[in-house]
Amino acid sequence: MGGSESIVTCADRNNPNFQVWGAMSDLKCNKKKKHKFKSFKEWLSTNKINLEAITLGTEEVDESQIDSAYQNAKHSVQLVKLYDLTLPKGQKLLANISTIATLNQGVYGLYNSKENKEVILNQLAIKPEQLNKIKMTFGQDAIGKENIDGLPRDVVKGVSLNVIKKYIPEINVSAFSPSSVIHVNVQKHLQTHKDPTSAIIELASTIVHEATHELDFTNTNTTSESSATAAEGKFKNWVKNNWNTITQKIKIFQSNSPNFS
Ligand SMILES: [Zn+2]
Repeated sequence: MGGSESIVTCADRNNPNFQVWGAMSDLKCNKKKKHKFKSFKEWLSTNKINLEAITLGTEEVDESQIDSAYQNAKHSVQLVKLYDLTLPKGQKLLANISTIATLNQGVYGLYNSKENKEVILNQLAIKPEQLNKIKMTFGQDAIGKENIDGLPRDVVKGVSLNVIKKYIPEINVSAFSPSSVIHVNVQKHLQTHKDPTSAIIELASTIVHEATHELDFTNTNTTSESSATAAEGKFKNWVKNNWNTITQKIKIFQSNSPNFS
């Protein structure tokens, strides 16, 4: 028996005169009261947890917009998540992304650094005078308050962490967590790529492209097309070289083999 597992007690469900002792996982004390949630989102809202808080610094993203636009978009995100597993910490594409939103005109994808946000997760680590310094340096609009995980949190908008650090060297960068948005044009991809496998891979490549812009900007305050295009090429090579493993994880690919050129 695991020594660290917490021991709880509750009335025996079959006989309330008895008390049963054991680990919570064994007892299932609350089984009767438990409500089966239809979705992750329902669970979050019932527990008053903001989706954005869950996604901060993790591979979790709010992909609801693109999932509504295309039923297979979830496989594109899954593919990028698999790829991210191979990348070192600090270079993971989805770690800074909170939302993959749709885009309805023009290009295949879009990243706008104005939509970058740095959420202050540890309010106590940032002094009020440092917040004022951010406003003085980057404008009054640079700081906003947003309700994230049920708490009104200070958010720095459109300025990357390394730039904040440059102007305010004493600031505690570990108090911040990036929370950015990228956009992908699902409809344009579907018009161009008729078979599902190509559509899923191309959509994933666009996610990689836009996330690379975000990662570049957050790390160096600049980004370029050559960097994003190179990241796409690297990703597509990975897909090609690991196709057999990928098809075991993403079943839809099993019936649709791509034409790797
Ligand atoms: Zn680009």
